[in-house]
Parts: sequence; structure tokens; C-alpha cells
Amino acid sequence: MIYVLTGGPATGKGTRATILAKELGIPHIATGDMLREVALNNKEIREKLQRGELISDDIITNLLEKRIKEPDCNNGFVLDGYPRTYRQAELLDELLNKLNRKITKVMELVVPDELAFKRILGRKKCEYCGTVYGIDFPPKVSDVCDKCGGHLYVRTDDTEETLKKRIETYKENAKSILDFYRKKGLLLTVDASTNPDSVVEDAKIK
Ligand code: ADP
Repeated sequence: MIYVLTGGPATGKGTRATILAKELGIPHIATGDMLREVALNNKEIREKLQRGELISDDIITNLLEKRIKEPDCNNGFVLDGYPRTYRQAELLDELLNKLNRKITKVMELVVPDELAFKRILGRKKCEYCGTVYGIDFPPKVSDVCDKCGGHLYVRTDDTEETLKKRIETYKENAKSILDFYRKKGLLLTVDASTNPDSVVEDAKIK
């Protein structure tokens, strides 16, 4: 079971990927989270993330290859934030062929840009367990995680200016990536302004 969740910033990829991964008992791999971890000790990557720019296809694909070769991915994984370029879609294909594995389904999440802005500018994340809160899911106590009591922070790239850049970059790349998967019969487009739990039913659609 390999599910790919794609969509612009704040379309809810992370939320839906978490729900689906939990339901299926497989890991949720978010390339943005992987990069934010690398960025702690890497100035060049940190600055690129800050500007809302993409990291090179080679760097991110090497990180991904290492991750999916770990034993917890043997039964599959939910991929969130990759591929972001046509080249990455090709590289993922090559990588999975090499490992004799196949994508089950690609879900494209779509929300109106205005909703993405509203969601992202109210978004906060727990620094301990990574749970994301926002306008749709506020924490019970301001700036405190409901699940673990951790402190909530705002991502440094969640600004209006960076968000515009990230949406633009997504749109530039999305068409060719979506065509690639449409031709393979793997693409399902989903209205992501609805209840995120619907991802479990969406995953079952043949
Ligand atoms: P969002 O989808 O809200 O932009 P992510 O956490 O998925 O947030 O990604 C944050 C940033 O990490 C992106 O703006 C980009 O700079 C970088 N990034 C994540 N995934 C990739 C990828 N597959 N290729 C290149 N850069 C990536």
C-alpha cells in the first residue's frame, strides 16, 4: 500500500496523511518534516525553506530513498509532500521499480486559494508531537497541545509572502505531475475543504 497525497500548501495533506496512515497502520512520510529536521543543522536548506523555495530533487530523493528502505515501510507508507516536481515523479517511479513496489493511489487535494490562506495563517504545530492545529481544529487551550501538553509554534515559512510563493511553485509543477499519474490511472481528485476523515473512504475507491 503506497498512497501519495498531493496538493498545494495548506490543502490538508498532513492532516489527511496522518489519518490514513493511522487507519492503515503504515508510516506517514512528510518530506517537509524531514527537511525541517535537516534544516536544524544545515544553513543552506534552512534559508531555502524560509524563502519557500524547493530543495533540489537529488537531495530530497536521497533522503526519501533512505526512509522508505527502513523496515517499518515494508507494508507501505503514506507520502505527503513528494513528488513536487515532474522529475521527482520520475525519480519516485524509478526508485519504486528498483524496489519492486507500486503506488496504490495518488490523491490530489484541492481547496480554494482563499481557504488555504486562511488555514495557513492560523496554523500552529506542537513542538513535541507534531500535531497541527488551525482554524478548523483549534486547541482547547491557546498555544497548548491537546494531546501532549506541548507548546504550539508557528512555522517560520507560514507567512503571507512565502505562502504566495509556495502556491505559485505548486501550480507551476502540478499540471505535469498530475498528468503523469492520470495517464497511469492512479489519480483521484478530492475536495479537501470537507471533513478530513473522508480520506479513509477515498482510499478505498477503486
Ligand atoms: P507545505 O505543503 O505547506 O508547503 P511542507 O511541509 O510540505 O509544507 O513543505 C515545506 C517546504 O519544504 C516546502 O516549501 C519546500 O521548500 C520543502 N519541500 C518539502 N517537500 C519537498 C520536495 N519534495 N521537494 C523539494 N522541496 C520540498
